[in-house]
Amino acid sequence: SNLVIAVDGPAGAGKSTIAKIIANNLGINYIDTGAMYRAITYKCLKNSIDINNEEEVIKIAKVTDIDFRDNNIYLDSEIVNEEIRTMEVSNNVSNVAKIKEVRYLMVDVQREIGKRNSVILDGRDIGSYVFPNADYKFYLVATPKERGSRRYKELVEKGYDITLEEIINDIIKRDEIDSNRDFAPLVKANDAIEIDTTGKSIQNVVDEVVSKINM
Ligand code: C5P
Repeated sequence: SNLVIAVDGPAGAGKSTIAKIIANNLGINYIDTGAMYRAITYKCLKNSIDINNEEEVIKIAKVTDIDFRDNNIYLDSEIVNEEIRTMEVSNNVSNVAKIKEVRYLMVDVQREIGKRNSVILDGRDIGSYVFPNADYKFYLVATPKERGSRRYKELVEKGYDITLEEIINDIIKRDEIDSNRDFAPLVKANDAIEIDTTGKSIQNVVDEVVSKINM
């Protein structure tokens, strides 16, 4: 049957970097579930929807089509790989992701993908809620400073004029909303393997993850 690997943890812990490499190594699909919540957020912002108006956000989510193909994320048939990575999206996404009805819609898609394919998914609630019976569950963590520094580098490369302190604060705020929402919050599943990526190279973390996977 299909292999399902869950990679959860707070923002900037290295989940997507590691999950992509593992997916490649194992020849399985990679699903960035955060990209789905980002895509809904991007669409709301683009259409000047008030993120705090849950009814409006839910209406948008219900008529939105999100698809992953060839390493691209499609929002209603349009590739939005870059558009969903802006600071504006990052600073609004947690308020969209805390809406239960939005999560139901995204989780349905994620479970459907996992039913048909072997897959590694990165997110916040994959091991705890979306796939409680996943074959492997990892929970990546790192210090706020390390996580902020990683994001800071990416954003400066994109041309943002920001400070490391601002980014660390944004990340902490996002983690707080993600951890404290009522439904399917960011949490380490009881049976997840926790890996602290602080100060470790990508290869180092990949090796640690792979060493736990026997196949
Ligand atoms: O992984 P990434 O940082 O791109 O996720 C963006 C946001 O999407 C998270 O901060 C969180 O609010 C939301 N998210 C979620 N559940 C997931 C994945 C992401 O709530 N499984």
